[in-house]
Amino acid sequence: MAALAITTSCASGNKSEADDFDYTADRFADIEVLRYQVPDFEQLTPRQRIYIYYLTEAAIAGRDILWDQNGKYNIAIRDLIEGVYTNYKGDRNDENFKALETYLKQIEFANGIHHHYSTDKFTPGFTQEWLLAQAAQLPEGTVSDVEVLMPVIFDPTVMAKRVNQAEGQDLILTSANNLYDGVTQAEVETYYNAIKDTTELTPVSWGLNTRVIKENGKVTEQVYKVGGLYTQAIERIVANLEKAAEYAENDTQKDIIAKLVAYYRSGDLKDFDTYSIAWTEDTDSRIDFINGFIEDYGDPLGMTGAYESIVNFKNTEASHRTEVIAGNAAWFEANSPVDPRFRKDEVKGVSAKVITAAILAGDSYPATPIGINLPNSNWIRAAHGSKSVTIENITDAYDKAAHGNGFNEEFVIDEATAALMDDYLFITDNLHTDLHECLGHASGRLLPGVDPGALKAYGSTLEEARADLFALYYLADPKLIELGLLDNPDAYKAEYYKYILNGLMTQLTRIEPGKDVEEAHMRNRQLISKWVLEKGKADNVIELIKRDGKTFVQINDYDKMRELIGQLLAEVQRIKSEGDYQAGAALVENYGVKVDPELHREVLDRYAKLNIAPYKGFVNPIYTPVTDADGNITDVTITYGEEYLPQVLRYSRDYRTLPAFLTGK
Ligand code: ZN
Repeated sequence: MAALAITTSCASGNKSEADDFDYTADRFADIEVLRYQVPDFEQLTPRQRIYIYYLTEAAIAGRDILWDQNGKYNIAIRDLIEGVYTNYKGDRNDENFKALETYLKQIEFANGIHHHYSTDKFTPGFTQEWLLAQAAQLPEGTVSDVEVLMPVIFDPTVMAKRVNQAEGQDLILTSANNLYDGVTQAEVETYYNAIKDTTELTPVSWGLNTRVIKENGKVTEQVYKVGGLYTQAIERIVANLEKAAEYAENDTQKDIIAKLVAYYRSGDLKDFDTYSIAWTEDTDSRIDFINGFIEDYGDPLGMTGAYESIVNFKNTEASHRTEVIAGNAAWFEANSPVDPRFRKDEVKGVSAKVITAAILAGDSYPATPIGINLPNSNWIRAAHGSKSVTIENITDAYDKAAHGNGFNEEFVIDEATAALMDDYLFITDNLHTDLHECLGHASGRLLPGVDPGALKAYGSTLEEARADLFALYYLADPKLIELGLLDNPDAYKAEYYKYILNGLMTQLTRIEPGKDVEEAHMRNRQLISKWVLEKGKADNVIELIKRDGKTFVQINDYDKMRELIGQLLAEVQRIKSEGDYQAGAALVENYGVKVDPELHREVLDRYAKLNIAPYKGFVNPIYTPVTDADGNITDVTITYGEEYLPQVLRYSRDYRTLPAFLTGK
């Protein structure tokens, strides 16, 4: 489980000074869209720039796949809403039109009609009558079967949630994604139990690239591949990957691309593993990319991968930090507070670098992770290691955009703490990401015979908790000073304070009143924060205090807090290593899920006054090929400044691959 989301919109660090770059692209609903810079793109060679260009084309070519994975009506609804928006001749200040514009921005941000984070269906602010009247005026052929879409858009009970994780319900039938159709959860589980061989030492990632349906009464899989489901998009991805290969930096990259293409052609998950191994072992190339069906957060059963692509190149200077961490991986593993039986004997091939993202696509666009650790396959990680990255041009953009937003003044308990955060939050946040991705996810091992899927629906949350706890534990370790990564023994307190503040209070800004915490990373943060708060009660380690009617987090004993983090790390690792479902479920349900309604209300009110968007995402830069008189591409230029809606509308137009209603009406 690999993607690390930005934890909060907390203003952080002043290490990087503000510049003239325009970081803000749009603001609507609960979203702010930012821009990121691609420093050093100009320092690459023309050949490297052309290589990146074709990889970015391959990345965006898969856009429609994610839209269709997220819901079978998504592309048809996008056609309808974009059609009305671009063809509208009336008053653009009309309330229905303005509501449609907001709805359009929301669905473009979510790659579908469900919120990207809560996965709840959006509620349109315009009326069905108005939309139907507009649809009737659209040019012939823009949309069809509009009446089929009306309940999907307007009826709150139809396809209400993209990913339902509620205990005790049929998670397949109650989830609106398009990864399964016409099958129950029990049927899916029976199907996979029959084909999974639990004694297999190198199992493929079952279900990663398929849609599960029933055909003639039998459960079967539709495979995403050339000639299979999504072939129209996959063929275009492959064509651009093959063009990119001509400009590869070395034979290793050519080989990796050839293996990825072979997998896209066969759909065989063994081919995906072959590709993943080659990709994992390439730690030398400057330019790198992921492209495929990667993270499984969109599947309540955690099997099918959402289409995603990020193209990037190494930030050589900043990578020194992660190289030092990776180089000392064995020390960190050997000194962790975890029972030695659950530690790795030998830490293999942890490679870590700081990267500059050149394009964000699919599941990483517009909302994007700030760190990634791949591959996800457990046996490949054990045998071949993993690659871990911190995306620093993204964290930098977050940091710059958050300057002076008033967050710290409202929520941080005192000026001393705020000053410490100003000085050290940027670096400790980045170090937290490095440690989480590079060591946290890579640490520990399962006892022999333990099913990696034993923790079921709680697996993602507990895996994120394990990685966060590992990172938090070591952020406070004198080893980081010894390694020259921090210069102040108190620096870690900046991250500890932010983490607990976020986990206990401020991340609640992302949740509607009356709702539980659902998303895995958020459950993990609340789990850790509430557990440490509760277990530290006797020693008064952390308190929630009231001042002028406002609640503040006060940390009284940072040393004890670190001890508690070590204890919880040991317990979460035990749960994972032993596959202790009962204990894992209890931990998540008792600490990670429920919200104190009174505190929630207070946080929402205080946050609303700041007018900060709880969610952020990014527009991409534009890459333009330079061609010679014969039309041959000789170089690529980069420009920024494209606005959000023009960009997504351009993507819908220029990267359209799939028909509406591809998988039925
Ligand atoms: Zn993670």
